[in-house]
Amino acid sequence: MNRIVNILVVDDRPEGVMAVQAVLHDPSYNVVTAASGNEALRHLLAQDFAVILMDVQMPIMNGFETAQVIKTREKTRDIPIIFMSAINQDEVYVYQGYKVGAVDYIMKPFDPFVLQSKVGIFVEMYRKNKLIQEQAQKLYEAEVKTYAQALDKLEIKSLRRYQYLADAIPQIVFRLLPEGRYEYFNKVWFEYTGQNVTISSGTGWKDAIHPDDLHELSGLFNPHLSLEVLDCECRIRRHDGEYRWHLLRIEAEHYEHPTEIKSWLGTATDIEERKRHEDRQLFLSKAGELLVSSLEFEKTLQEITTLAIASVCDWCAFDIITPRDGLKTMALKHRKPELEEKVRLFHYEFLKDDSSRVGSGHVFKTGQPEVFDNIDDHIMKKYSSGPEQTKLALELGDKSALIVPLTAKGKTVGTVTFCATSSYRFNDKDVDFALELGRRIALAYENSRLYEISQQAIEIRNDFLSIASHELNTPITSLKLQLQMTKKALELSDKGELPVERFRKSVEASVKQVDRLINLVQVLLDVSRIQSGKFNFRFQKYSLKEMVDEVLERFREVIEASNCEVVVSGLQDISVEWDKTRIEQVLINLLTNAIKYAPGKILLDFNQTGEQVEFSIKDQGHGIPEDKLQTIFERFERVGNNDSVSGLGLGLFIVKQIVDGHGGVVRAQSTKGHGTCFKVSLPVHVPLPPTQTETPSAIH
Ligand code: ADP
Repeated sequence: MNRIVNILVVDDRPEGVMAVQAVLHDPSYNVVTAASGNEALRHLLAQDFAVILMDVQMPIMNGFETAQVIKTREKTRDIPIIFMSAINQDEVYVYQGYKVGAVDYIMKPFDPFVLQSKVGIFVEMYRKNKLIQEQAQKLYEAEVKTYAQALDKLEIKSLRRYQYLADAIPQIVFRLLPEGRYEYFNKVWFEYTGQNVTISSGTGWKDAIHPDDLHELSGLFNPHLSLEVLDCECRIRRHDGEYRWHLLRIEAEHYEHPTEIKSWLGTATDIEERKRHEDRQLFLSKAGELLVSSLEFEKTLQEITTLAIASVCDWCAFDIITPRDGLKTMALKHRKPELEEKVRLFHYEFLKDDSSRVGSGHVFKTGQPEVFDNIDDHIMKKYSSGPEQTKLALELGDKSALIVPLTAKGKTVGTVTFCATSSYRFNDKDVDFALELGRRIALAYENSRLYEISQQAIEIRNDFLSIASHELNTPITSLKLQLQMTKKALELSDKGELPVERFRKSVEASVKQVDRLINLVQVLLDVSRIQSGKFNFRFQKYSLKEMVDEVLERFREVIEASNCEVVVSGLQDISVEWDKTRIEQVLINLLTNAIKYAPGKILLDFNQTGEQVEFSIKDQGHGIPEDKLQTIFERFERVGNNDSVSGLGLGLFIVKQIVDGHGGVVRAQSTKGHGTCFKVSLPVHVPLPPTQTETPSAIH
């Protein structure tokens, strides 16, 4: 069936219009009439026409003028116009009609068949054109659809490929909407965080970001930011609760318009190991600087613990071996000061519990590092000393620990303990760094100890120099006085005014002072020989009784002058093989001390058991404090409150060297207020062939 087409008939005369309508009575024609040019133009705006039949002669706007307007309009310019005219049949008019765009010119009265056929041709052309247009449109639509489907397919395919690719790489890959809401996360994200799509959707993914880093990160997803590529670091929580540092690289994906952000594309790379390594190295270098900048060891340890809790752990403790208390905590700090007391109690258990199979005490014993990368309830119960310690452990919530010995030059001087709750997990890779720290600390400890000893030695030497000069000065002054008196006496005696007898006393007193000086110099020489390892002995056989009697005889005057009484017991006439002069020196030193520090009754007792001879010298003086009974045998050691009695603090030191050189033992016993007893035990025959004494250690 033919489609209905519109035909516009423009004529101001109704009979003209009717004539045309009568001719065009085809049911597939819709004849629209217009009585003026303007009315015709209105119809043309509203509808589409196959052909226009236009009367030329019309008032206001004639047919030509109307045709001109029609031809200027885009929508109507191609509609064929057939002019109809009865009056202007002149060629000029016909020509004008064609000029304004007519396709035909019909003279009135027209032949109905001619009009029908002419209109029929244009209607047919119009219909054909319409058909072609519709078919072209359909073709176009069909093509567009196919193209769009192909595009869709391509896009889905490339999206899938993109996802496969994103899943295949080891980093986290994500795509977020402009304001930071979830759009896509690759498989790695879900495996790493333990989240699922439901949890991650919206802004749920932010739950896996460390709270301290969230603020900075959230600020980045601003759709109005003009950032192209952005790098930042943040901590992402792993499925097991551990936060690990990641490097985030985020890039904006734009729409056509460069300022409009379509989405954020990003990757997150785990940089925990690198970050840890950097932190450890920084910590080591800072700790190293502290260790070399100060000799105050304990204070430095405190500073290192502060450094440690700021960068590598939640709490840290340093334990150092001490002669009196064993392993002792020198520095301990927790990131949260309110937990410090609990840590101290918890840690102390590992120090004092000898049976402990882990912890600082155990590490000190074995010298082997211990690493706990995942402390759970089972481990806590297994290694804690009892319910109290388990309770403390649960309260502290430590998840990881690293304990290493502080060792340098093969000597372990203590331990360091690092513990972490959640942020850090120590593993085997951390051991090297901790051992290096331990080595540096042990060296620093040794240095500070040596420094302390050398300071003490300097102090002792200074004290000794002042005592020695005083000791030497006293007999010299007195000797000078005696000699001046002798000189004066000699002058008087020359004049015959003074008998020789009068200055004998001064000479004798001078000799005494010289003896005293010789003794002092002898003592100093002995100490010097001992230090240089040249303290030699000449062993010979002699009678013990003869030697003792001789010494007592030599001292008789001094003993009497000091109101002392020496009671000898158990002395038998036995032969001994000792260095006679040196053993005499031992006896004289001990006897002199008893006379000097405890004048009164002195018991000298001898006793022989098999191959061993023991002799003791017991006085009734005020005694020696118990804590000094060992140290008085060391160089320059003097017990307080004896400033009134002169001495260099070297007598007992020399006694011990001589007795040691004979393979014997000397010890002091004392009870406050009940005197002192020195016991010397010697083998009758020195077991070793005549030799030097052991080389004593150099002065520290
Ligand atoms: P010095 O007598 O020159 O000071 P010694 O080495 O002989 O040095 O003695 C060391 C210290 O031991 C003395 O200074 C003194 O304090 C203490 N001492 C030694 N013998 C006695 C004693 N019998 N009674 C009390 N104190 C003594």
